[in-house]
Formats: sequence, structure tokens, C-alpha cells
Amino acid sequence: MLCAVPVRERNAWCPDVTANLLDFDLDGLAAFCEQLGEKRFRATQLFRWIHQRGASDFGQMTDLAKSLREKLAGVARVEGLAVVSRHESTDGTVKWLFDVGNGDVIETVFIPEADRGTLCISSQAGCAVGCRFCSTGHQGFSRNLTTAEIVAQLWFAEHFLRAHLGRQDRVISNVVMMGMGEPLQNYAQLLPALRVMLDDHAYGLSRRRVTVSTSGVVPMIDRLAEDCPVALAVSLHAPYDELRDNLVPLNKKYPIDELLAACLRYQGAAPRDFITFEYCMLDGVNDQPEHARALVALMKVHGDLGLSCKFNLIPFNPFPASGLKRSDMSQVVAFSKILLEAGIVTTVRKTRGDDIDAACGQLAGDVQDRTGVDRRMAAQRQVMLGGIKVVVA
Ligand code: SAH
Ligand code: SF4
Repeated sequence: MLCAVPVRERNAWCPDVTANLLDFDLDGLAAFCEQLGEKRFRATQLFRWIHQRGASDFGQMTDLAKSLREKLAGVARVEGLAVVSRHESTDGTVKWLFDVGNGDVIETVFIPEADRGTLCISSQAGCAVGCRFCSTGHQGFSRNLTTAEIVAQLWFAEHFLRAHLGRQDRVISNVVMMGMGEPLQNYAQLLPALRVMLDDHAYGLSRRRVTVSTSGVVPMIDRLAEDCPVALAVSLHAPYDELRDNLVPLNKKYPIDELLAACLRYQGAAPRDFITFEYCMLDGVNDQPEHARALVALMKVHGDLGLSCKFNLIPFNPFPASGLKRSDMSQVVAFSKILLEAGIVTTVRKTRGDDIDAACGQLAGDVQDRTGVDRRMAAQRQVMLGGIKVVVA
């Protein structure tokens, strides 16, 4: 069938592709409905059916005119992702693998806690940044996810979990963009997805409860501050450039001082009055007392300029190809003590879903190394990291 409306740029005027309505924020959906000769309030109704009630069949949407439902059935669809697998941990963590075509698999993780339910969402299939300690980075970059694919993770998880847990109320209260991929390297698709998360006619999450985590794409941190300032987490992992260059290759383009300056600019717009810094604890690499002291000195300089921070120490989730090891808990405690004594708010992230490998990129990492990056990284494995020789297992 020939579709009557242009379906976003990449599908424009295609003969047989209907628009996936998960691709639209409310303004986008209103524009789409306008092209069908419908008023904005119809788009709002449609949006609520899709996101608040989890509907995908236009026939179900009984308060829309029959003529509109028929029109929609010809030009649009609400299409989620194909589930490859679902793993449930004994602690309630749920991890899904979704097939996004062409052999690409992405993952989404739900982490229940007493006072919240957090969904960890992927933004790309693979990742081009190539961090040393990250299973996704070892897979290389395959492609950006579309807005629909980002939103579909939340849409599916929320409505699946409501049915699964027998709940009528909202299950997911927080979203963190901490799954596979670098969200700020997929900005154009990320932005409408964030708007859907925040929209009161969809998930109605507050800006404080939606976190974008980035390895430090400085120009896009500024863009996010302008367009949609949600909570920001920055993956720091090292107190100085020499070490960070090795762990997070993007640091060569946007070194620490530039990154922290961007964080300070962001703070003015941010919904929280601090930036969260993530620091993955790697045995013998970045977890020594001198690293903690260097971090204190770095934060003192930027703190004097006005930057407020909170540190989240993440126990490394090991995977064989990394050649790296998780720091001992005693090391993590000693490290956090140095930060705390310097007045830096520091928490240690609980590991969740260990029995189902529910950490960044872990499970999908087991099934693919699509671009051979893992092999290339293996060749470089025995490197000097900040003067400390990493012994490869
Ligand atoms: N690309 C973004 C968001 C996805 S990664 C970023 O890097 O921030 C989300 C978080 O998981 C980051 O802080 C990242 O450093 C961390 N991470 C990646 N691999 C990990 C591993 N093997 N163990 C523990 N944390 C890891
Ligand atoms: Fe990409 Fe984040 Fe993994 Fe680094 S840690 S490779 S930026 S997903």
C-alpha cells in the first residue's frame, strides 16, 4: 500500500513502510496527525493510549473516531522490539535481550529497589568509544538506535512488568541511559526519546529521575543543557589524562579539564545541583590511594570554580576479554574513605543481578564481537596504564 504521509526523513514517502508511532514525541505525533487532517488533541489521546495504556492495536482505542482508527491502520503502527530472551535474577532484577535486526542485539535491565524501579536503557547497538573495561566497547559500533527503539525498551518493560507483577500503577520510576552505547553520540534520536519519558501524557518522569550517562562528549553536554536538561552522570574513571586516555579513548578528544568545565556549565541547567561521576574500580589500575588523592586534588580545583559533585564507585564487572580485575572491596572502601574525608559525597554501587550478568553490555557481549574490535583490543592488552603494568589473565 502507498502511504499517504511522509514518515520521518529516513522513511520518507516509502511505498510500503508505515510510521512506527514509538518514534514520535508528542509534538512529532501532533505533526503526524496534522498531516492526516487531525487536531492536536487527537495526538494527545493517541499518545496516552500508546504510552500510558500500552496499546498497540488502533482498534482498541475506542475513544478515537472509527475513521481515524482506520486511517491510522493504513499508515501507522506501534511496533515494539523482538525479545530474544528474558532473565530474572533472584534479587528481582530483570534483563531482556532484544533483537534489533541484522544480528544486532541490545539489552535493557530493570532494577527494583524498595523506593524505586529503575530501567537501564541502551542507546546504540555496540559503541564506538571503546572503553577498555566495557564489554559493549569491546564489541565495536554497529549502529545508532532509532527513537522508536530507545522508547520501545521503556514501553515494553513498563507494560510487561505491570502485567507480570500484577500492578496497575507505574512500575518504572527512574530511567538511566546506562545500557549499551554512548547516548550523546546518538543525540538526534535520544532527544525525542527523552521528551517521551518526561511527557505527562506518556511516562511523566521528572527530570531528576531521568539520567543520561556519558563518557564525555563535551559539545553534546552543552546541547543537552539547552534542549532537555535531565540528570547527568559522567563516566570519569581516572583522575588524570594519561590514565583516562587509556581507559576512555574519547578523553584524547575531550580531556578531563574540558569535560569538567562542561559539567560546570551543565550544572546551571541541571535538575540536581550536582553532577554524578562514575568511577569503575579496576584492580591495580585506577584504585590506588594515589589515584584517590589525585581525584581529591582535581575536584578541589574544579570545586573552587563552582563544580559540585557526587562520586559513585562501581565495582568492575569482569569479562574475560578485558584482562582486567575487580578491585577488592577493601580497596574500594579505602578509596572511598579518602574521598569522603576530603568532603566528597561518595557511594559504592551495589552489584545487582550478578547471577544473570546484568551489567553493562555483559550478556550481549557474550554472543557477539561483530567488528573484530575485541580481537584488536586483545592485541593491545598488555599496556602501561598510568605507570602500572596490567597483568593479563
Ligand atoms: N556510554 C555511557 C553510558 C553507558 S555505560 C557511559 O560510558 O557513561 C554505563 C556505565 O557502565 C558507565 O559508567 C560505564 O563506565 C560503566 N561500565 C561499563 N562497563 C562496565 C563494567 N564492565 N563494569 C562496571 N561498569 C561498567
Ligand atoms: Fe561506550 Fe560507555 Fe561502554 Fe565506554 S563505557 S564503551 S562509552 S558504552
